[in-house]
Formats: sequence, structure tokens, C-alpha cells
Amino acid sequence: MQDTVCCGCSVVCDDVAVAVKKTNLQSLGLCRLGHEYCNSVFNKHRLTTALYKDGSGKLGPIPTKDAIQQAKSLLKDNSRPLFIGWSNSTQEAIQIGLQLSKNQKGVFESTASFEYGQILRTKLQDSESEQVRLDDVRDYADHIVYWGVNPAESHHRHASRFSIFPKGKNIPEGRESRVVSVLDVRKTESMGLANHQLILSPTTGDVEFLQALIGELKGTQQPLAEKVGGVPTIEFLSFAKQLREAETIALFYGNGLIHTTHSAQSLPLLKQLKSTLNRGKRRCWTFPMVAYCNTIGSVKASLKSSKLPFSVDFSSNPPKPITSIFKSLTDGQFDCAIITNWDALSLLPGPMAQALSKLPLITFSTLPTLTTKKASIVFPTALMGAETSGTAYRMDGVAIPLKPFKEPPQGVLTEENVLQQILVTL
Ligand code: SF4
Repeated sequence: MQDTVCCGCSVVCDDVAVAVKKTNLQSLGLCRLGHEYCNSVFNKHRLTTALYKDGSGKLGPIPTKDAIQQAKSLLKDNSRPLFIGWSNSTQEAIQIGLQLSKNQKGVFESTASFEYGQILRTKLQDSESEQVRLDDVRDYADHIVYWGVNPAESHHRHASRFSIFPKGKNIPEGRESRVVSVLDVRKTESMGLANHQLILSPTTGDVEFLQALIGELKGTQQPLAEKVGGVPTIEFLSFAKQLREAETIALFYGNGLIHTTHSAQSLPLLKQLKSTLNRGKRRCWTFPMVAYCNTIGSVKASLKSSKLPFSVDFSSNPPKPITSIFKSLTDGQFDCAIITNWDALSLLPGPMAQALSKLPLITFSTLPTLTTKKASIVFPTALMGAETSGTAYRMDGVAIPLKPFKEPPQGVLTEENVLQQILVTL
């Protein structure tokens, strides 16, 4: 067995090990998602040669050095490139991507823009939350709240490594020393772990619940109806009481709270809740549950390079933010795109995916996807973490050095290597 780091999600587990048995993987500590992720190095469909779409419109194999030449020509012939993806890329690859975006006066966009947008920027620029780590949650948080996120399906080892089960400095009994609350619009698997299982009404339940909770904690709440945001009042009051009694609250929020039609109301209320809970000796920490393994790294690198977290337009100096990637794409403002290890055409909203699919695309991917099928040039890449060294930033901003456990297949390069080759001679 050899130690490795899993890049299957933003928990970036660095306490795992694997053994390669011919074309099979034995693992220690990896969750099901992590095992599937690492085992994909042996996927029989994985890309092993560069592909290029010639005049006939069909993708066919091409030597990597020729694909690099074609990519350079494409970038030279176009004046408004979009460089998009970056959350499944190493820090080192992202830095080259930023340099390339700058040199080509293009737009650098990461999935952070779609995942957490403004919230992520606010969060990362908040110096207090910058310093709080998942290790602090493990050591001190006696009330864990998951709101609009279901880690039992999306971040399997979050609860066992950091939030619910482990013992910590001030958490002598692990699970028994913590209160756990899960809020969502439907019953989720994570609720099986919770003391408080709070099912909010899907319309404006979170807004009503947040308003009432802030009022209850401040002691200004008017008499309550039978339900608060869809939750029976007795359950609401019990949750509020245990929040009041907690010493350290760690609140993890996800798409269910952020990507609603009324997030313009719920997000400022969440901030207000945090400051209401941060009274006296009680502390409340909030964390966005980003999905991809290096979303945070992409934001950090972008801030360092341009002072902007994402959506960076390098056509001006200093670079300025683009107002809306949705509008820029659907208005046809780009003439080509580089997409790094992200199946953008499957994951973007329809009108954006449609606009993107009409551009000449240079893609990087380990496995075939809808995006690679539509691309003009495809670079097969080493699987991040499993076959690459470099760095990824965990969801709480901790830098994790990667520990590859195997070499990529013959002829397959890392994304960093190909980007560097494009950069140096462009
Ligand atoms: S929790 Fe995430 S990083 Fe950890 S093993 Fe599972 S998929 Fe990999």
C-alpha cells in the first residue's frame, strides 16, 4: 500500500492509501466516491491519445506535439478566448492557465463562479473565516449544522473526519459530544445522523425560518404560528434552544440554500444569523460546501494574479470583472474556448452550453465526455492526484500536496505540462 491523496471531492483526503494490482485498485480509507475516482485511472474508456477534428468534422488521433501546434494556431487565430474550468486542476496548472489567459487577453472563468459566486468571494476575504479550519471544527464544534447540503451523498468522509464523529480537543466523546442538525427541503440520507431533522417548505421556507430564528435568538420574535417555514414550531424552538446552548457552531451550507430563487434574501439573513450567534463566548463558523477538489485553489490563484476571484477579463490592464458569464457567452462574445477537466457542456445551463458548443473548443480530460465529443482538440490528461503531483486546496483553504500513486499511461501528459508547452511558444 502507498499513501496518496484523493481528489474526488473538496475534502481532499490525505489519510488514504492504495495498492495497484495490475489493472485494479485496492484502497484503504477511500470512500466509495473516492475509490471510483481513483480507480478511473483503469477505466477502459479513458482517453490515451490526443484528438483533432479535421476538415471532415470527425475527431481522430493526432500526436500530442501536433495537437499542441493546432491549439497554438487556434489561439493565435482568435482574439477573444475563454479559459474555463480550473476546479479540477492542480494549483500549478491553474497558474499557467492564468498566465495564458493574461497573455491572450482572454477571460479566465472557474466553476467557483457557478458554485458559490459572490458568497465565496465574501467568505475568502473574511479574515476570521480564512483562519478557521476543518481541524478546528473537529476539535471544538459542539453543534454541527448542515443546511441545503447532503454530505452523505456528496462529501462522504466530511462527517467521519471532521464534523460529526471524530473526537477532538473539546469533544471528548466524538458524536456523543455534539448536537447535529440537518435542514433541507426533503428528507436526506444525512438526516439519519441528525438530532434535529428539519424539513423546510421548498418555496420560501428557508427565508421564513431564518427570519424567525434570528428573532428568537435576539428575543424579539412575535408569537409563532403552528409551523415556521414548514417546520413544526416545537422542533424550531428545540433547534433554537440548542443553538443558544452551544459553545461553537459550525454551519455548512450548500446549493439548497444558495441556488434558490430567493437567495438574495436568504444569504444576507444567513450572514445576520452568523453575527447573532457570534455573541459572548459563543462562536459560529460558516463554510460553503464547495464540490470540486480545487475550487478554493482556483479562487486563491485568481485573486493573487488579478485581485479578482473569477470572471476575470484580461483584455484591460488592470483586469476587470466581466459582468455576467451567462450574458458574455450567450451574446457570442467569445471566439474560442479552453476547457480544463470539466464537462461544461453537460453541466452548464442549456443556453450557455449551447453557445459554448458552437465555439472551437480545446479540452483537457481523462475520460470522454459530452464536451470532449464536441471539441476541436482534445488532450488526454493524467488523473489529478492519482497520477499528478502538485497542490490542491481543501474546502477550508488548507494546501494539500498531492501524492501520485502511479504514472499516467504512455503518451498521456499532465494538464500542467501541456499548458506549459502551449504557453512557452505561443
Ligand atoms: S470524501 Fe472526497 S476526497 Fe475523501 S475519499 Fe471521499 S471522494 Fe475522496
